[in-house]
Amino acid sequence: MQIKIENLNKVYRGGKYAVKNLNLEIPSGMFGLLGPNGAGKSTLMRILVTLMKPTSGKVTVNDLDLAKNRKEIRSMLGYLPQDFSFFSKLKTYEFLDYAARLAGMKNGAARRTAVDQMLEEVGLFEARDRNANKLSGGMKRRLGIAQALINNPKIIVVDEPTTGLDPEERIRFRNLLSTISTHDVIIILSTHIVGDISSTCDNMALLNNGQLAFAGSPEELVKEAEGNVWQIEATEAEYLEINEKYPVISTIPIDGGWEIQVVANDINGYFGKQITPNLEHAYVHFMENKLNQWTTA
Ligand code: ADP
Repeated sequence: MQIKIENLNKVYRGGKYAVKNLNLEIPSGMFGLLGPNGAGKSTLMRILVTLMKPTSGKVTVNDLDLAKNRKEIRSMLGYLPQDFSFFSKLKTYEFLDYAARLAGMKNGAARRTAVDQMLEEVGLFEARDRNANKLSGGMKRRLGIAQALINNPKIIVVDEPTTGLDPEERIRFRNLLSTISTHDVIIILSTHIVGDISSTCDNMALLNNGQLAFAGSPEELVKEAEGNVWQIEATEAEYLEINEKYPVISTIPIDGGWEIQVVANDINGYFGKQITPNLEHAYVHFMENKLNQWTTA
């Protein structure tokens, strides 16, 4: 599977470019789309799942053109929007059965088997008779992914995958997605939370102001931050100064002060050492340095 995005633009009424001259290739596997709020992620996702037409540009899925083959592409898609909500009154299995019917599964017996299997897979079989709108946040999210997966889609798009989930549910949800990730399926996770991307994604893109700022593997993004992440031992007074000067990633109280991680080219005058960056450091480094240069270019 491959999605190819060429010179894509989306301009909203009033002239706002939500997506600007975007070129991007998305291969099979787990793909993370990262960017701050307002970066254009939802707009791009809505274009990819055929809910919205771009102003200009081209998207192809394998050899199919999104502008010409909407129906074929739709049949390959599973989408979990950010604001996924339920029809009230439906039981969990009724809801999934309804989604399966919408996805074109006409044979009743086959559909019921598929629904039961999917409920097992996402760990909701025991809750099948509960009203869908009474499920916990994590269970709702899992039912959301179940409806997105019910017709074996080739492209799965999940917007803000862990919003509203507690840490345990986050891990469970992430694991569920990575078990689906096989060679000929594309899973796109769109998020502003770095932690949603780090451990699971093979490839990623960074969007800012509707434009592509980075495309590659998470490891490549991390590499860009090497030599720019520091751990400093600081007194209270120094901490206040440092906080003014550099983006602070974390602080831990230690004897007589603070242990602080910052992203900076240099930490002139403070007592500290360079540390190995992680994706969160790399994201901050990128937003602080590259994007400033790049948005003013
Ligand atoms: P993200 O999903 O990364 O938060 P969005 O795609 O929702 O970003 O939004 C990108 C930009 O487009 C933002 O500046 C947002 O305010 C603007 N925008 C989104 N939807 C509309 C709309 N329907 N009309 C006008 N502007 C919009």
